[in-house]
Amino acid sequence: MKAAFADQQMRHEPKTFLVSGAPQPSPEQSERATRLLKGAEAAGLERVEPEDHGLDAIARVHTPEYIAFLSTIHERWSRIDGASEEVIPNIHPDRRGGSYPASAVGQAGYHQADTACPIGPHSWESIYWSAMSAAEAATCVLEGDLWSYALCRPPGHHAFKDLAGGFCFVNNCGVAAEMLRMACDRVAILDVDLHAGNGTQGCFYDRADVLTVSIHADPVRYYPFFWGYADERGEGAGLGYNYNLPIPRGTADDDYMPHLDLALKRIEAFAPDALVIALGLDAYEGDPFAGLAISTQGFARIAEKIGKLKLPAVLVQEGGYLSDDLGPNLTSFLTGFGDAHGG
Ligand code: ZN
Repeated sequence: MKAAFADQQMRHEPKTFLVSGAPQPSPEQSERATRLLKGAEAAGLERVEPEDHGLDAIARVHTPEYIAFLSTIHERWSRIDGASEEVIPNIHPDRRGGSYPASAVGQAGYHQADTACPIGPHSWESIYWSAMSAAEAATCVLEGDLWSYALCRPPGHHAFKDLAGGFCFVNNCGVAAEMLRMACDRVAILDVDLHAGNGTQGCFYDRADVLTVSIHADPVRYYPFFWGYADERGEGAGLGYNYNLPIPRGTADDDYMPHLDLALKRIEAFAPDALVIALGLDAYEGDPFAGLAISTQGFARIAEKIGKLKLPAVLVQEGGYLSDDLGPNLTSFLTGFGDAHGG
């Protein structure tokens, strides 16, 4: 099985991260990718460089305004006298009307939901190639692989069609799902990251062809705070096609499994042709975010249950932050998945 990753994904190196208002180093460091790549190789996956699948792959998910913003904003921001090194919004509109600001500062507020998605000089290059890794992994499955893994970094599941947030810019799961949709009538996305997959939910909220399911720490006291509740079920044609399972902080392996079973039953009821897994490893008991308490072995158990669906699957890397076990946790998940799924 293949693991798609491009060296260009290492160039985004965000500096700023506010924790309860206090500046801290960003946990979304390129070192994550180094460790995850080792973890994928330890599971026996073969690294492949993604081809350039073109802006088309991203434009199926995101608005042209937003893509133009992501690809040009750093250069425009840098021309402002006294501007910060990274693009960080200082305005957060709580409602956005029909107007679209012309200024770089206004647009940063429009397109960046929080301060955890700073844009530096090389960010767009990494964002673009992270999306290409998702497109590549989806292409592997379209061409006959049973499953594949995309080492997407920066991650994507907090990114909406026109909004970055929480380390995420382009919704890589969305990119993979739209690629799969070219050959599949129905695609399910299962998000097992510690945090609610709010951006993925938002991208497909009014659609019946892509089921979005997310198991995550209850947002009532946890990021992303404003999304991820059980009563968010979709809208319009998509009503009934979004399924959120908020679970208590600190949930460990045994207590996690019944929630996973519910998620998998819902996916089976959707009868999808393919599955995208938003593979966050920050549900780990030793992750710096300390939200849930999944063990290294627990990731294998989760993966086995999902693998038993035997659906063509694209595993897309989401969160999971620096600890000695980041690589081994990925190895555990991929090995468990491969054992149950085959391939
Ligand atoms: Zn996360």
